[in-house]
Amino acid sequence: MSLKDISEVQLDHTTRCNLACSQCARTQNPFFKDSFSGHSDLQIEDYQVILEPFAPNSFRVTHCGNYGDALASPTFDETFDYTLSKQPSTISVFTNGSLRSASWWSEFAARGGHRLRVVFAIDGLQDTNGIYRENANWSRIEENVRSFTKAGGKARWDFIEFAHNYHQIEEAEKLAKEMGVEQFNVKYTSRFASTQKTVEARTKGGVVSDTKDNINQQDMLQIKNKYGSFDEYVRNTPITCKAVAEKKIFIDMNMRLWPCCWFGAPLYFHRTCKQKTDFLYLIELYGEDFNNLRKHGWNVLNHDFFLNHLENSWNDSNSKHKRIYTCGRTCGDKFEFSSGYGQNKNIKTISPTHERDVGAL
Ligand code: SF4
Ligand code: SF4
Repeated sequence: MSLKDISEVQLDHTTRCNLACSQCARTQNPFFKDSFSGHSDLQIEDYQVILEPFAPNSFRVTHCGNYGDALASPTFDETFDYTLSKQPSTISVFTNGSLRSASWWSEFAARGGHRLRVVFAIDGLQDTNGIYRENANWSRIEENVRSFTKAGGKARWDFIEFAHNYHQIEEAEKLAKEMGVEQFNVKYTSRFASTQKTVEARTKGGVVSDTKDNINQQDMLQIKNKYGSFDEYVRNTPITCKAVAEKKIFIDMNMRLWPCCWFGAPLYFHRTCKQKTDFLYLIELYGEDFNNLRKHGWNVLNHDFFLNHLENSWNDSNSKHKRIYTCGRTCGDKFEFSSGYGQNKNIKTISPTHERDVGAL
């Protein structure tokens, strides 16, 4: 992997967020429980390093992380303006929509102009969005979305389908259109199937449930029939790397460079699991800072991990370059883990004036 293979930089700008979604890695980690203190944020100096190699209009920037909502960060605004000054072809921001004020959103649309895309993650309507998106403020979301689109902002509404909101998809799409949103995306989540569950406990009590006959649950059954277990599938499936195919790279809130967003979470998991074990092995092998851009700049790409280890681990693994659980789980050939790919996404253009997909994921 080299710089010429990168056309999109995806960022986990912060560990801060105002919500507590039950399947989010940050919600499940007590370290992040107090959501507005003791956290990491990317700084303006970091963006000077990140964006230095890219020529105007030759790259995209996407704010879509594992541990936070970029708009909860006190460093977001100045880094956003700096990013814009480097002229990315697009800058996409994925958000829960309930941060900031309506007037800020109006000004944000004007600042971002034709380069800015916003994806609002809203999983239901007034009576259901807060079931998964715990602590979300519905009236604030409505005001913010309307204010953004009224000021000319390009927006997409992403709606994760659960048992409790399935019946509202059509109504939500109508509301999206009425609010001036350009695209509507109904997403399946594979998190129930991949963790072999059909329900997940909420922070405030009760559960969220998977939709009946979710396609990922069906795939999981077929995998178990063929391989005996999901772990066996992960160990043996052929792997096609999504990040390589899409020329993307991922940077976490501590400036660690990873090949993709799925690599940006396991090291910070609270509980030990197969994914985390594989990442602890990488740290043991290469040291804590082997992929730290603050320390090494883009020379990180010359590290053995990026030059050899990753590719070998997929289909030619050895005792040093071992297969990484996250890769088999995410980019195997029989299970679509990500809600942004394949059968799990369903992006519809609902505004006739829309020119292109507003979000990179
Ligand atoms: S809005 Fe995003 S970052 Fe915040 S808790 Fe929910 S999934 Fe996690
Ligand atoms: S999980 Fe592994 S194979 Fe999939 S995109 Fe990331 S690095 Fe590539």
